[in-house]
Amino acid sequence: MREDIKRLLLHLIAPTRCPVCGDFIRPDERFCPECEAELTVWNGEHTIPGADSFTAAYEYNDAVKPAVMLLKNGIADNADYALGGALHDRLKENGIIENADVILPVPMTQEAVSERGFNQAVLICRRIGKLSGLPVSECLEKQTETLPQKTLNKAQRAVNLRDAFTVTDPDTVKGSRILLVDDVCTTGSTLAELTWQLKFHGAKAVYCAACCKTPPVRDDEELPDNG
Ligand SMILES: [Zn+2]
Repeated sequence: MREDIKRLLLHLIAPTRCPVCGDFIRPDERFCPECEAELTVWNGEHTIPGADSFTAAYEYNDAVKPAVMLLKNGIADNADYALGGALHDRLKENGIIENADVILPVPMTQEAVSERGFNQAVLICRRIGKLSGLPVSECLEKQTETLPQKTLNKAQRAVNLRDAFTVTDPDTVKGSRILLVDDVCTTGSTLAELTWQLKFHGAKAVYCAACCKTPPVRDDEELPDNG
């Protein structure tokens, strides 16, 4: 079934809501117009060591936070549709979509996926995949739970991530131009670690992306629970 028709049918059963304020919206809308007007389009510069680019759709702030929290609390609702769609549009604008071969979500441990019900990065990747036609591969795995990055200083954060991830299908990675996607990027240390692994396994390019990027933080500042 066509996706827009599927969304329309779903909308008749459970009307589509704005993932920020909860108001009813049309099934083809991402946010209500009032909330969308409050969002800050990300225009910053951020470098992920080893990566070929970094793209974000929105700056992480109080205006977008309710949508991100829906995902983090295991309620995708319309948030994956809205945030994934917005990130897709940015990646299309800056030419990444046409250069990438495959989309890879930043992984969560099996335990974390069971607890939440889904990996929000996977949902966002599927949305980008639907809009772009690019395949999504879950060939990255996180075996061990790392400590929340926000509880650590810079040096501890780097050590914390070492050996946490593996590439389960090196053939997908070798020679590919990879779009690596997360929901929120804070320091970028998780993306940097995964970029290193993907390049080690022969990725031709790694384009990092996140729906939201936090403003630059100091080492002692509190971060959202993300890498
Ligand atoms: Zn709204």
